[in-house]
Amino acid sequence: MDLGLKGKWALVCAASKGLGKGCALALAGEGVNVVITARGAEALEATAAELRRLAGAGEVRAVAGDIATPEGRAAALAACPQVDILINNAGGPPPGDFREWDREAWIKALDANMLTPIELIKATVDKMAGRGFGRVVNITSGAVKAPIDVLGLSNGARTGLTGFVAGLARQPKLAGRNVTINNLLPGVFDTDRIAATLKGQAAKTGKTIEELKEARKATVPAGRYGTLQEFGQICAFICSAQASYLTGQNILLDGGAYPGTF
Ligand code: NAP
Repeated sequence: MDLGLKGKWALVCAASKGLGKGCALALAGEGVNVVITARGAEALEATAAELRRLAGAGEVRAVAGDIATPEGRAAALAACPQVDILINNAGGPPPGDFREWDREAWIKALDANMLTPIELIKATVDKMAGRGFGRVVNITSGAVKAPIDVLGLSNGARTGLTGFVAGLARQPKLAGRNVTINNLLPGVFDTDRIAATLKGQAAKTGKTIEELKEARKATVPAGRYGTLQEFGQICAFICSAQASYLTGQNILLDGGAYPGTF
């Protein structure tokens, strides 16, 4: 299926690895020009080179910087001639007990996982509306639907973003101008973040990483972790011309792990 995206420009935040990279791969594969960001320049350049090698890829620009800072956002926006597609993403906050989190820990989580996406949305959506096409996808978490106790910072910050977006996406001046805003909620995906989490759990419990990985898989009806490629393909479809009637939604990608009917 031709997604109708060839020649558009996408800003894909936090995309040198993991889910952001999956989105950049899928969009670049559709002929979208992409600007990718991450803090570490080396992995970012390696990913940019990988994207450039894709058949049919357009222009690929890499901007090293922290997207959770005003300077990082300004540099990313400056590198993108026009943002037709905005993929909001950043690293997730650390796990822990809320009794140990001070104001600074909360502000950091809110900055990365709520206020940064809102700032980037603010900088781009009215221009998208002016051109009559825009797609925003926020990578959030399955924890928005089914909170994970130790990820309280994530549960709180991402749910704040979700509430804000629910109102914004329904503004006629956006939805009526072919600008859609949706959230993609990952369950368990095979990325560096999950590998790091399992390593931490192994050190705490004395179990091997393999044991913990198998136990986690057993909680997923699909019997496996998701891949960054399949995450990216769904993201690209949400950005497609065909998906213009899909807005304000929270789309869970979790291999059936969430047990509810809705
Ligand atoms: P990952 O494999 O660790 O990759 C994170 C990517 O984001 C890297 O490219 C990293 O590069 C970049 N990054 C992190 N913080 C950044 C910042 N402040 N500014 C710019 N780039 C930044 O993580 P992932 O698994 O893809 O997770 C992506 C998001 O989805 C996270 O918020 C995570 O909590 C959430 N999530 C993931 C899962 C899962 O199963 N994987 C499940 C639920 C939610 P640098 O470190 O070089 O900056």
